Amino acid sequence: MKRILIIEDEKSLVRFIQLELEHENFFVKVAYDGKSGLHVALTEEWDLILLDLMLPYIDGMEVCRRLREYKSTPVIMLTARDAINDRIQGLDSGADDYIAKPFDIDELFARIRAIFRRVELEERPVRSVLSIRDIAVDPDSRVVTRSGMTIELTKREFDLLIVFLKNPNMVQTRDMLLDQVWGYDSLVETKVVDVYVRYLRHKLDVPGEESIIQTVRGIGYVVRT
Ligand code: CA
Repeated sequence: MKRILIIEDEKSLVRFIQLELEHENFFVKVAYDGKSGLHVALTEEWDLILLDLMLPYIDGMEVCRRLREYKSTPVIMLTARDAINDRIQGLDSGADDYIAKPFDIDELFARIRAIFRRVELEERPVRSVLSIRDIAVDPDSRVVTRSGMTIELTKREFDLLIVFLKNPNMVQTRDMLLDQVWGYDSLVETKVVDVYVRYLRHKLDVPGEESIIQTVRGIGYVVRT
């Protein structure tokens, strides 16, 4: 559940936004002035802060400036004054976006979604998809596809395929495969490798076409690009 902090002194507006956000399954907390708002913003973790510009004790710009000395929590500035100056100042003080009151709740939601999308993109690690020919493997999600069709593999089959994809054109002996997939101390016999290669071929290969995993007689197996 995403956590949103509202710092706004206009109680009826706060109540309205809070109900709408809670309806969308956000956890919401409210601070009605700049001083307590800054305190909550700094001492608790938030996914987003909706920050009013005109606030008692410390105004929104100053709250944002002080927050930015410590945290990069996304901030959408709310302001009644729809002046270009406020917008520029708001963004200068470190706000991520700005919305002028009165606003449509759908527009606020659109801005919130845009910010969450951006944060997710920034946080998402770069996926290192392994591929050979038309076979693609995402090691993180463990999704395997051939020509875009998902192929279900067991853990061992998956681990075995990963070894081949990480070492294209390099012949893997049965012992090498055993070490990498089953572990050095494994008491499994090397012929289990043959069994799992057969499973993999059965799931990956296209009938009538040459197998993706080739046998190197007397040595082991190789996947060629
Ligand atoms: Ca206000």
